[in-house]
Amino acid sequence: MTDDARRDANRRSRWWHRPFSVFQTNLQEIDATLDVDAALDFIEDYGADTWLLNTGGIVSFHPSRLSFQTPSPYLANRLSGDLVGDAVTAAHDRGLKLIARLDFSKVSTRVAQEHPEWLYVSPDGQPQLYNTLYSVCPSGAYYQERTFDILDEIMDRYAIDGFFFNWFNFNERDYSRRYLGVCQCTSCQERYAACSDESLPVGPESDNYRDWLKFSFETTGSLTKRIAAHVSSRCPDVALVLRRGATIAYQEANNAFGTDVWHHETGEAVSAHVNTSPDVPVMVNSVAFVDMPYRMAGEQPERFAQYLIQAIARGGNPSTYIMGPPGRIPYASLPSGREVTQFHRQHIDVYTSLESAATIAVVRPDRLGMPPHRYATTREEYRGIYASLQQTHHPFDVLAVESLTDAGSLGRLSRYSLIVVPDLGPLGLGTAKVLDDYAYGGGHLLCTGSSAVGEDGTVELASSPADAAKGKPEADAATWSRYATLVEQPDADDYCYSPPLVPVWGANLSFAWKPGTTMLGSVLPPAPYGPPEKCYGHVVGAEPAMVTKMHGSGGVTVIPWTVGRTYREFGTTEVRNFLLSAVTPHFENAVTTTFPEHVELILGTDDRGLVLHLLNLTGARHRTFGPHVRIPGGQVRLHGVKAPRAEALVAASPIAVRYDGSDTVLDLPPLERFEVLRVATLNETNVMSSRSHLASAVAESIGSPTTERTQS
Ligand SMILES: [Zn+2]
Repeated sequence: MTDDARRDANRRSRWWHRPFSVFQTNLQEIDATLDVDAALDFIEDYGADTWLLNTGGIVSFHPSRLSFQTPSPYLANRLSGDLVGDAVTAAHDRGLKLIARLDFSKVSTRVAQEHPEWLYVSPDGQPQLYNTLYSVCPSGAYYQERTFDILDEIMDRYAIDGFFFNWFNFNERDYSRRYLGVCQCTSCQERYAACSDESLPVGPESDNYRDWLKFSFETTGSLTKRIAAHVSSRCPDVALVLRRGATIAYQEANNAFGTDVWHHETGEAVSAHVNTSPDVPVMVNSVAFVDMPYRMAGEQPERFAQYLIQAIARGGNPSTYIMGPPGRIPYASLPSGREVTQFHRQHIDVYTSLESAATIAVVRPDRLGMPPHRYATTREEYRGIYASLQQTHHPFDVLAVESLTDAGSLGRLSRYSLIVVPDLGPLGLGTAKVLDDYAYGGGHLLCTGSSAVGEDGTVELASSPADAAKGKPEADAATWSRYATLVEQPDADDYCYSPPLVPVWGANLSFAWKPGTTMLGSVLPPAPYGPPEKCYGHVVGAEPAMVTKMHGSGGVTVIPWTVGRTYREFGTTEVRNFLLSAVTPHFENAVTTTFPEHVELILGTDDRGLVLHLLNLTGARHRTFGPHVRIPGGQVRLHGVKAPRAEALVAASPIAVRYDGSDTVLDLPPLERFEVLRVATLNETNVMSSRSHLASAVAESIGSPTTERTQS
């Protein structure tokens, strides 16, 4: 074994590289007397193998000797005077792990008075005081230096298994959601001056706010790197749990009340993570209450279950987060979380080797990579495409656009036969090059709207059939009364039309097209839409509805308007079918199902064959999930595969396998909240299809019922 291979094997041999499940008791200072055995009884019964416990920072639950730590006064009522010590010992006695929770974002009034130089300073020169606590700035010495003292004291005393830092970022708003502005402390001024000629912004209204956001990420990111190196050099088996740059990635599934609900939020986030950083496990900390101002009100059980089901189905590690010790506050959500967490633990062998087998990827926009109004519309486009694929049981992965230029990304992309790029606007030349290479190597890109179009109309993708945009996109009301059609309209001059005509809404672009492209269908320019007596006159325009072109062994399809936003807005199946007509030629239907569109199919493999997660989303309510509808008698068909056996893991029953020609057909028991099918396969490669499929799929032409015009 080479040194590199040994280091790589070491990196992958840590405890967090095997599936784990976490239970977080987020304690109040009064909980320093917690009964560790009772808590561990609950945690074990819940199915979790790791306890996330408050340790230090705002309040210490051990007798810290550091002058800038604040031990809970209630530790005096504890026999040992040391909750953390008792908890680590008791957890390890049972074979459970313990992650220490720390929060460096605030200090007590006493510490604040001793170290005013550590504190956040608002644009009008004020500290941030909340419930007797003062906010601390990540630029200052408390974060940058004293953090290491706090970690060292804990590592000196306790054989903990990990650290989690809460609120590890710049304080711009407080718990009451009051916006206080960008920190102006001396440390921030000095650090910002080193990377910018401008003065610090005051908030999002400042021109350089987005530059500052990058600065803030870099400040916490470089600190994370230093902390991670320090921890791993002292204790290589201690994990670091954080949103970015740590050994375990932190993802929180929560209600965030007052914001729009996207029912696929958790699955999306986990998919984007595991396909971006497959070597860094992700922990999905699922909040058992409805939100911060209502920490005692339990989350709706079905919604809570969705957090955990979506997490495990996409390869994340489930975690449950409650306030206080178990039992002090009653949460209606916990029984449903227990079911999923126990299931995950019982089937740890599946989750140890689970990988996605999706052959489609959808690129997710980056909130920081574009202006807020632009992000809002692009996200709608992305969500329309996401929903279309989910509802029609096309298994897909999510790729974060900001990760496409990461080292090794091209290799990861090659497993997809189709990558959808939803109205992302300018991508930058690095990302465009990766996508060009992907297409040249045999993949197919589907670009909608303005994807890969620069502000000046240049097209960044060399592989695109589009040469350059003609003028600015038509947006919003300027797109009204416009239609796209993929069928011939021979009688349009007589105002008689052939179905389907689908609305074009959101944004519409005109392009100069390259030679050798295949133009499909047409766009019907606007005609009057009121009053009804005058509503006629749509003719077949010169602009195509969809265009495609080969590139190397692959190709690119462009839908020059926002089909995803149109579907999000109107939800008609005809719009969805329009989109799918650009997907299906590049997708091998390895698995089909008779389940309705309210079932999400997530396709994976483990070391024995196929793993299908079926998520029953019938309980989706406007802002949450309620009880699901039981779905009897669904069928799953595996194309081109004769599977010797199959098992429904949730129903805990074998599935009778029958063959139909070269296919395997599975008749399933009634689908409750979710099911996981484990299918042993004789010929995995047929079903996984990701690699073998590439070359053949891209050579197929776009579906036959379309009108084709080739531009020369
Ligand atoms: Zn500062």
